[in-house]
Amino acid sequence: MLTGMVRFTVLSSGSKGNSTVVTGGQTRILVDAGLSCRELFRRMKLAGEDPATLDAIVVTHEHQDHVNGLAVTARKLGIPVYFTEGTHRAWMRWLMPRRQMTYAQWLDQCRQQAAARQAEADADTAEGELDEADGVTVNGTCSAEAPEQETKQAAHDSPVKDPTWLPAVEYFEAGKAFQIGDVVIHPFTIPHDATDPVGFVLEAEGVRLGVATDLGYVTPNVKAMLKGLDLLLLESNHDLEMLRDGPYPWSVKQRVMSRVGHLSNDATAEFLEQEYDGQAAYVILAHLSESNNLPELARISAERALAGRESLLANRLLLAEQHHPLSSVCF
Ligand SMILES: [Zn+2]
Ligand SMILES: [Zn+2]
Repeated sequence: MLTGMVRFTVLSSGSKGNSTVVTGGQTRILVDAGLSCRELFRRMKLAGEDPATLDAIVVTHEHQDHVNGLAVTARKLGIPVYFTEGTHRAWMRWLMPRRQMTYAQWLDQCRQQAAARQAEADADTAEGELDEADGVTVNGTCSAEAPEQETKQAAHDSPVKDPTWLPAVEYFEAGKAFQIGDVVIHPFTIPHDATDPVGFVLEAEGVRLGVATDLGYVTPNVKAMLKGLDLLLLESNHDLEMLRDGPYPWSVKQRVMSRVGHLSNDATAEFLEQEYDGQAAYVILAHLSESNNLPELARISAERALAGRESLLANRLLLAEQHHPLSSVCF
């Protein structure tokens, strides 16, 4: 096992899954669980971390690449998950099983359900119709929830059958620091197309670690939060030219480039050159797109931006990877 009071281990970074282990004192925290539980455990062991020693999972936002293995991992370890309330609700909505069907099929199903209800002498039809209306969404999908009686029965089944069941849920709010064991966590709002997305500054033993990925641009508040860090994990998602000429449909390109999308190499370089205080001993570029970026483009762009900083001599620039854990950074 690794020793060291504060450690930062990126297990995976990118659109196929994001996850980092932060150890401070006696406390070990998983930031996002974007890989399957099995793969998370495999990579933790590769990196010399023992999954059984994790104390909690903290979640930045509900996008799949940040929560893929969340429920299984939390259940297997019996540990709490920390969300904002908005992110927790969005995550539950994402997990609720819904069946896609055409509008005609939906109408047909609704007629059949209405007929079945009328056949029941004691049915409360008004309530049933309201429930049904709630299940409809704009693109013609319909909630595939079981009829009311079955739903009630399911609630009495073991919690494992509820896909949203977690051993414990804790809420935090952006802008309000909270503590897990020996680690103090400062969550801050980031501009991204999720319900209530956040970045984190994690603090332990006087060491400050910043995590900021999945943001459309660097807001004044984010700039303020990313000062005085010892380590900065910062998104460098795409090369603008590669994105423009790349395989994504135009609507997706627009989304990625938007103010609630992802930071380009240029945007990251601009921050590093003009706003970043140069304090961190380690800068880790993260969430690199496999379709619209190349590690060398991101690296060169960030190196140029940092070239003028006198502290660069002491700084190390690392690139987080999608398919392999990065060696632990120890303080
Ligand atoms: Zn992401
Ligand atoms: Zn995201």
